[in-house]
Amino acid sequence: MSEDTLGPGHHTRVRRMPELATYDVEVINAILDEARFCHVAAIVDGQAVTVPTLHAREGSTLYLHGSQSNAFMKAVFSCATAFVSVTIYDGLRLARSGFESSIAYRSVVVVGPASQVSDVAEKRRVLDMFVDAILPGRAQEVRPLRERELNLTLVVRVEISEASAKVSHGPTQDDEDDMALPIWSGTIPAHLEFDAPVPSSDGAMKDGNVALPESLVRLYRDQR
Ligand SMILES: Cc1cc2nc3c(=O)[nH]c(=O)nc-3n(C[C@H](O)[C@H](O)[C@H](O)COP(=O)(O)OP(=O)(O)OC[C@H]3O[C@@H](n4cnc5c(N)ncnc54)[C@H](O)[C@@H]3O)c2cc1C
Repeated sequence: MSEDTLGPGHHTRVRRMPELATYDVEVINAILDEARFCHVAAIVDGQAVTVPTLHAREGSTLYLHGSQSNAFMKAVFSCATAFVSVTIYDGLRLARSGFESSIAYRSVVVVGPASQVSDVAEKRRVLDMFVDAILPGRAQEVRPLRERELNLTLVVRVEISEASAKVSHGPTQDDEDDMALPIWSGTIPAHLEFDAPVPSSDGAMKDGNVALPESLVRLYRDQR
């Protein structure tokens, strides 16, 4: 494997529709960073379990976090290898047949060794990354993390040792025989858009004197 590629590795060879697959580091990182959340798999009490959770990437490391008392998160770093997937929904691909109909998406599967982050300074830094993964710039705006909150939180690092991406875009691939059918066929692109903010109605916010933070101003400006 070169520096620019993360696969295909032992666990990450896309078999069906391999023409949609890429192992390119830049494409994989871009999908990981745009995805709002991930799904993590682990074996808990002999059962396969998958759980949705937030993630934050830094270089070739993907971070996850959860409660110190969460059996699932503990299982993630107890397994020799962690499996994490993300998907971005990009719209509809409506063919003339149900068989060829699908959705447009970009997805990534990451595979790598997982371990617990124990160093306190690193934990603090990573937890700020999670706040920024929710909304870039927000970590600087919120009150600092308390000792108690830090102690309650488990942080897991997954080294991205191999990964695959699948990108399903473009026109539908109708059968030649179906082309003449008078059935609508085409694509409907979709994207995530934020509605107007709904301010909290409690505490200092209730008087309506707290200005919209920079991070939110940027979010609305950039989505235009
Ligand atoms: C939102 C969404 C909906 C889907 N719906 C369907 C469906 O209804 N039916 C269906 O058959 N397929 C569906 N797929 C595709 C599905 O994810 C698999 O790609 C497909 O099952 C074929 O897998 P495989 O046999 O090639 O690989 P598998 O043998 O299942 O997996 C081997 C390896 O290939 C890689 N890989 C497989 N799929 C993906 C992927 N999507 N993204 C990144 N890496 C991948 C992983 O590294 C995995 O470990 C969907 C994908 C997405 C994102």
